[in-house]
Amino acid sequence: MQLKIFLNFLFIHSLVLSSSSEEEDTGSSENESEEHHPKGAAHGHWGYEDQDEWPAAFLYCSGKSQSPINIDTKAAIYDPRLPSIALEGYDLTDGSSLMLLNNGHTLQLSLPSTMHIVSGFDHVYLAAQLHFHWGTVEVPGSEHTVDNIHFPAEIHIVHYNSKYANLSEAVNKPDGLAVLGGYIGVGLHENANYEKILSALTDISIEESNTQIPGFNMRHLLPKNLKRFYRYNGSLTTPPCFQTVNWTIFNDTITVSRKQLAALEDTLKVGFSQHLNKNFRAPQSLHGRQVLASFTDASVPEEGLSKVLKRIPNITLFISQRRKKRYR
Ligand SMILES: [Zn+2]
Repeated sequence: MQLKIFLNFLFIHSLVLSSSSEEEDTGSSENESEEHHPKGAAHGHWGYEDQDEWPAAFLYCSGKSQSPINIDTKAAIYDPRLPSIALEGYDLTDGSSLMLLNNGHTLQLSLPSTMHIVSGFDHVYLAAQLHFHWGTVEVPGSEHTVDNIHFPAEIHIVHYNSKYANLSEAVNKPDGLAVLGGYIGVGLHENANYEKILSALTDISIEESNTQIPGFNMRHLLPKNLKRFYRYNGSLTTPPCFQTVNWTIFNDTITVSRKQLAALEDTLKVGFSQHLNKNFRAPQSLHGRQVLASFTDASVPEEGLSKVLKRIPNITLFISQRRKKRYR
């Protein structure tokens, strides 16, 4: 019974991160928790600075199927049976508006469940929200890595299994979630689609503030080629770390301008003055899990990177310098 209460408590907290629309449903519970529990990981609050302490307060965070992971391209197994991913309802240029939120852990955009993955999995998965992970100018902030290389940022589009009523119901079920992940790198040009989100950042610099932005085609936030991806079973990358995510990490990268990345890194605040950045979890052990690849040349190292790097030679240096810093 105590375990059940504990799980419920974790669950309430997970909603803050998982879905702002769900958060509204459980808003009163969350406020109640805030009132009765002081700050600190032991009391359900967590931060990226103390991620080593997550397992002590959130039992699943020390599980054997945690995310993110490093994708070792040489170890990835080509699986020709992996079905291609087909998206529907991603074009939201119908006049609807979407809520963009600074929730203190990330920048999150609420998505309608009319957006979904129609094929690629055993069930249809409905979208709930998308959010980002990023670093600073010195520290690249992607969560997943490829051959131990971090990209400057990463986008996650969170979907839940349509057999469940909503994200809250799905989040702790083994087949509950499917997250599409994309690496964000720096390119020469401004990314007009990302700008539709990034241009609203100054309106939500304060933690827990939100704004509405016009809908647009969310497909354009992902790489052009969705056929080349990695697939593995993992978890939420934040407490309570439920091991309920079927991960898809696209091989090809998305690029934004250096200025756009700087806006992401420097605009949002957590608390009164602290910058919201470096919101990424360190790669977790595989514990024997296999990473599947939808394409045959996955063993070619850094193929996904080279497209960006060949065009902008400086970026090679930029990334390898960051990597050295990180692993020193
Ligand atoms: Zn995420």
